[in-house]
Amino acid sequence: MPIKILAPDVVSKIAAGEVVERPASVVKELIENCLDAGATQVAIEARGGGVNLIRVTDNGTGIPANELELAFHRYATSKIENMADLDAISSLGFRGEALPSIAAVAQVEVLSRPPDEIAGTYLSLKSGVVVEKGKRGCPQGTSVTVRYLFRNVPARLKFLKSTSTESSHISNLVSQYSLVFPEVRFSLLLDRRMALQTSGNGELRDVLIKVYGLETAQAMITVGEQDFQVWGFVSPPSIARSSRSYLSFFVNRRWVQSRLLSRATEEAYKALLMTGKHPIAVLNISLPSQDVDVNVHPSKTEVKFRNEQTLFLTVQRAVRAALVKEMTVPQVMRQPSVVGVPTFIPEKQPLARQEGLFEGFAAKPLLESSLPILRVLGQVSATYIITEGPDGLYLIDQHAAHERILFERVRNQRASRAVEVQGMLEPLTIEVTPHQEEMFKAGEEVLASYGFTIEPFGSRTYLLRTVPALLRGGNIAQVVIEILDSLSEEGDRGKREERIAISLACHSAVRAGQVLSPEEMRQLVRELEQTDSPHTCPHGRPTMIRFTSSQLEREFGRSL
Ligand code: ADP
Ligand code: MG
Repeated sequence: MPIKILAPDVVSKIAAGEVVERPASVVKELIENCLDAGATQVAIEARGGGVNLIRVTDNGTGIPANELELAFHRYATSKIENMADLDAISSLGFRGEALPSIAAVAQVEVLSRPPDEIAGTYLSLKSGVVVEKGKRGCPQGTSVTVRYLFRNVPARLKFLKSTSTESSHISNLVSQYSLVFPEVRFSLLLDRRMALQTSGNGELRDVLIKVYGLETAQAMITVGEQDFQVWGFVSPPSIARSSRSYLSFFVNRRWVQSRLLSRATEEAYKALLMTGKHPIAVLNISLPSQDVDVNVHPSKTEVKFRNEQTLFLTVQRAVRAALVKEMTVPQVMRQPSVVGVPTFIPEKQPLARQEGLFEGFAAKPLLESSLPILRVLGQVSATYIITEGPDGLYLIDQHAAHERILFERVRNQRASRAVEVQGMLEPLTIEVTPHQEEMFKAGEEVLASYGFTIEPFGSRTYLLRTVPALLRGGNIAQVVIEILDSLSEEGDRGKREERIAISLACHSAVRAGQVLSPEEMRQLVRELEQTDSPHTCPHGRPTMIRFTSSQLEREFGRSL
């Protein structure tokens, strides 16, 4: 269809508005145009976080010479024509807004050649006005170059984050598109460094390897099959992340951000993941176009579903079915009890709810600020330390308590610049996603201040030479990944540093299910007594519950 300006009645029906929020939004609009033009190769380049330069080149249908200028008019599109088309949008773009909006806030050059034209047509615009045009030789396809983004909009420029944060948004975006279009060969150059390159061979798992690394990609579980309504990959519960940014959803091949789909996916992991942990998912959902409205938000990443309840259940069941199929029932070994200390380990059923030992008992988390001296009596379920205090029985959650102790230790060491560091005997190699790699560079200093010494080691691989001494037995690679994720999350420095301290504490703390010797338990309780906030773990959960002597008397019918 040729490019035409939409009639006013159609324009009034589209959710138009600002499409250029940050450099990644420019990249998104340009990539969508390539995909709508049937490209099989899309090369993206960005410099200076996309502010200095963004260039997106494709081998698609190209734009006819006589339509090139029109493409920069508001509401000029070749993708829809009338109201009826709005109800069944099959292309990614449809508003004719992106090119003019980008040209209004940057210098833009475009060079394009359809297959039936001998030479390419070139157009250069400044502040939306054509300053140069002509003919140039070029391969079939379109190349759009955007320079000095927001130079004429200082307020926008001020709102942007650091170069590496903006680059990481771009690499995350390109990763998402490469996951939903595995048959398209994507390449991403960030400041002249190849950050991502996919083969375009159509295999989603191959793209997963490029984006998430070999180890994670191999562990991912298949959901549905390619022609199913829901298909893709999800992580096994053993590979969990501490942020939701690893949930990718595509509806009819459009990348969407949807709380509904996130909740449906996470619901399928119920009881399989610790609180605060999230899965990795790459899910494609096919819906009849009349059941999904993409015309609700200018960025087109938010969509509205006609039948939310059904969709929720469909996604949840598909993911759950895939997980259940993969999962074997873990055998919990009866561990030898420590002499003199009663240890009870229940046979765990993974999906069954674990009933509380004192179900119905009105035990309450404690709220007073300091702890009384507690005498350790033993351990129950290899998870709780039983202690006696001045007024009754105190059950301490060993993991939560240790987390609190370590959290405060990390914080204090950091505040006094006395972080204890230990060298690795063998440096540990860590593979990162393109998105994380940007955060690596941005967060190098912060990581170093916590005791991580990291060196680049080839493409998207890093060597870890030292780690915080605290981390002795923890899963080091997992902690580093979590810290990188917390760096990319919004929030001020204080909040981010707190998240880092929480990650370190959580991974270094004794686990539930770990049998402790009486001396270890006494030590842990003594250290807990010395913390500033002994009653909660850094996530805010209680570290202990108390059963007062009078409660016990009442329960045993000794008093009324
Ligand atoms: P929309 O994508 O909503 O139609 P845009 O402003 O993004 O609006 O693009 C305007 C028009 O320019 C498109 O409808 C399309 O015809 C043409 N166009 C833009 N980019 C490309 C490209 N990479 N290849 C071919 N045609 C393109
Ligand atoms: Mg477009």
